[in-house]
Amino acid sequence: MYPTFEEVVKFHGHFCPGLAIGYRMAIAAMDFLKITRPKDEELVAIVENDACGIDAVQYISGCTFGKGNLIFNNYGKMVYTFYDRKSAKAVRVCRKSSVKKVKLISPNNKK
Ligand SMILES: [Zn+2]
Repeated sequence: MYPTFEEVVKFHGHFCPGLAIGYRMAIAAMDFLKITRPKDEELVAIVENDACGIDAVQYISGCTFGKGNLIFNNYGKMVYTFYDRKSAKAVRVCRKSSVKKVKLISPNNKK
């Protein structure tokens, strides 16, 4: 079970598209790796930007700069790589650039 998006919004401080994208990408990666949020440093995340989505990656995966399992490579890409130290499996996640229209629904306005 993953934290709700509302919990991640509370952690981040505001609702925004980057956070929503990071949330979905982190969950997709962890589903692919068949893991839930580790208790300690079992998972490593490599992020390639310093935008809002990183807060979702941290909250969902438990990877943080303080633990040394959140690695920042500033390539300016909305790409995240997750490496599970236990299984030695990894996945690199990016969003599809073919999406032209996105409908955003704020948790405060559920219309
Ligand atoms: Zn934001």
